[in-house]
Formats: sequence, structure tokens, C-alpha cells
Amino acid sequence: MTDLRIGHGYDVHRLAEGRRLVLGGVEIPWERGLLGHSDADVLVHAVMDALAGAACLGDIGRLFPDTDPSYAGISSLKLLRETGRLLAERGYGVVNIDTTLLAQAPKVGPYRQEMAENIAEALGLQPEQVNVKATTEEGLGFTGDGSGMAAHAVALLEKL
Ligand code: MG
Repeated sequence: MTDLRIGHGYDVHRLAEGRRLVLGGVEIPWERGLLGHSDADVLVHAVMDALAGAACLGDIGRLFPDTDPSYAGISSLKLLRETGRLLAERGYGVVNIDTTLLAQAPKVGPYRQEMAENIAEALGLQPEQVNVKATTEEGLGFTGDGSGMAAHAVALLEKL
């Protein structure tokens, strides 16, 4: 019997002036960026939490504590690559990953494919194993009023 494990990830970051906007490892030109200890890539953080959850490794706060100065400003794709290494060490392969980014603006449609490819590449996957979707929340709540962005991710792992 195939040993499959599912995980879910959710993350939120506040938008702030004077920060780069990095989503799925793509730097998107915009007036504000996400605030955080690392590059605050909310999409990649949700993916890492989904992977950590599926492998019963806790969450990214446990794997990469934000009290560790070596993670300051780090590219989240590097942390994703390390997460992939931890999964491989435990004998897990990724079947697929699906994500949803919640953001009122800017339009991220033109960058979706590049984001999916970055995530796939960091994990040694094929592009068709990673899907990136985005939606607004119709002007409602903290994503709707532009205070922040959120992301959901689900990941399916198989024991190799
Ligand atoms: Mg985060």
C-alpha cells in the first residue's frame, strides 16, 4: 500500500513601506513589501509549513527559528531547499503541492508560473507538481484592505 501523507500550511505577513515584495521567490515591483525576519515570502512559508506538517516535523518556526540571526533577510527558497533535504532524509518524496495566495494587489497572475517553477526547482520537482493560484478577498478583511497578504498550501507526500 502506498504510504501517503497530507499537510496543510497557512501564513500571513503584514505589508510595509520600504520592503521588497518577494512571492514564490519572485521579486515583484510594487510600492510595498512583506514584513518579516527573512524575505517574508508568505507563499513559500505556507509551502514549508505544509511539507513540515505532512512529515510531522512541526512547523517552520521549529525548523528555522526567527530568533536565529543567520536567517535574517534570508531567501525563503533556501529554507525551502533545506526543508526538502529534511524530507528526503526521512524518506519522503513530494507528490504535489497546491497553493493559494490571498492578496488584493498587485496582480500576480503574470508571475504565477515563475513562482511555481521556483518552488519546484528548490524541491527538485517537475513544474507540473506545483500549482500556484491567487485570489483577492473582494476588498474584505486584512488582505482586502491591503494591510497584509496570506497564503494557503497543501502538500501530498509519499514514503519512498
Ligand atoms: Mg512567515
